[in-house]
Amino acid sequence: MSDYVKQLMAEVKAKNPSEPEFHQAVFEVAESLVLVLEKHPEYRSEKILERIIEPERVILFRVPWVDDQGEVRINRGFRIEMNSAIGPYKGGLRFHPSVNLGILKFLAFEQVFKNSLTTLPMGGGKGGSDFDPKGKSDGEVMRFCQSFMSELQRHIGPNTDVPAGDIGVGGREIGFLFGQYKKLRNEFTGVLTGKGLNWGGSLIRPEATGYGAVYFAAEMLGTKNKTMEGKTCLVSGSGNVAQYTIEKILDLGGKAVTTSDSNGYIYDEEGIDREKLKFIMNLKNVRRGRIKEYADKYKNAVYTPLDPNAAFNPLWDHKADCAFPSATQNEINENDAANLLKNGIYVVSEGANMPTTIEGVNLFLDKKILYGPGKAANAGGVAVSGLEMAQNSMRFGWTREEVDNRLAMIMKSIHNTCVETADKFGTPGNYVNGANIGGFIKVADSMLDQGIV
Ligand code: NDP
Repeated sequence: MSDYVKQLMAEVKAKNPSEPEFHQAVFEVAESLVLVLEKHPEYRSEKILERIIEPERVILFRVPWVDDQGEVRINRGFRIEMNSAIGPYKGGLRFHPSVNLGILKFLAFEQVFKNSLTTLPMGGGKGGSDFDPKGKSDGEVMRFCQSFMSELQRHIGPNTDVPAGDIGVGGREIGFLFGQYKKLRNEFTGVLTGKGLNWGGSLIRPEATGYGAVYFAAEMLGTKNKTMEGKTCLVSGSGNVAQYTIEKILDLGGKAVTTSDSNGYIYDEEGIDREKLKFIMNLKNVRRGRIKEYADKYKNAVYTPLDPNAAFNPLWDHKADCAFPSATQNEINENDAANLLKNGIYVVSEGANMPTTIEGVNLFLDKKILYGPGKAANAGGVAVSGLEMAQNSMRFGWTREEVDNRLAMIMKSIHNTCVETADKFGTPGNYVNGANIGGFIKVADSMLDQGIV
């Protein structure tokens, strides 16, 4: 570790105690940026990274609501407006009991670089609540969303900050949030992305993150003259990102053999075909059930409950070619990374944000496998959110093919930026350096142009 990174991390830890995920995200980026800071002393003297680390604004608020039993419940709401150098703040809302300031700061920080990589004019933000939509009725979710938006609406707007979905926030929640914004502000505007098709949404937005992660894997394979055809894939999660990852793997001739939720995972050696995927979508998006039911229905599949205290996750201990972590942060630790490598995996494309620990990432980099970090591989979601904003501004909607082609082109461009930047800075094939530096330069140069603000 360089003296610069050591000193920076000591300051970050002192100023942001008890935020390990934020420390991890900053450390990973800072390590890459040493290469660029050596060549550009103006970034050091203008304290560009030090400024990016400090959110432009943090909003923290009370979210009171009444449950179906008439009891008053109180959650905490957040919005981190991290960086607006290249466009309005943009990033998802996460509703999950684990949500806290540190987790949202890590996500907002990652989002700054990711959004820059998409080539679209979007700054970085993130928000959410420790509210758990699991087990809540539609009425409870609606009342919570309305209370959440009653405060958030003061801080966002189509030219200021445009939230979207993330864990626990899908089409249903975006609908309730949008309805409340419209009522309070008396304006119909593109203030959220991931909207329903009838009221300003974009085709392909629900699919975009998962599709994009598979396009990114296909681009990485292309550098070795290979394709997704016939590849066996491990996928974690069974939410939005996982579902459309599995769909695009099928489209490109591959086979997904795992899917999971926070209770356990299934291994289906025959592969998750389109009919089984339809079952998963209905189970998760409509009936809101647990993935265990997959193994009750498809008898050849094996269900394994997850032990949160185990030293490794057995999902990552199967023979395959590619891995698509699509659930949550730090779901691949050093042991899991070692198991993936032992099982012959040579492509990892991260649908989730920061799903691999630093130790795991170092193993992938040492073995020089095709490792696409989340801020590059899962940027397809926010890219199509950017396209949704463009369509809203034009009051016009593109066809499915048009949006999908643009998504594929953006993923190709992100891939090329990573490869070219990694080459330029002397670390060929290192997509981590490529993504971190590639995302940083545009934001840093914009901050230089705009003065000390
Ligand atoms: P969903 O809420 O739709 O699905 C999340 C899935 O991950 C569920 O299967 C959930 O299981 C599982 N999961 C969540 N937390 C945990 C945990 N702590 N341990 C084990 N499993 C867990 O979210 P998304 O699919 O939208 O998001 C998944 C990941 O992708 C996140 O890291 C998110 O930040 C990232 N991402 C999402 C984008 C998007 O457009 N939606 C864009 C870019 C990145 P359970 O139902 O049991 O909780």
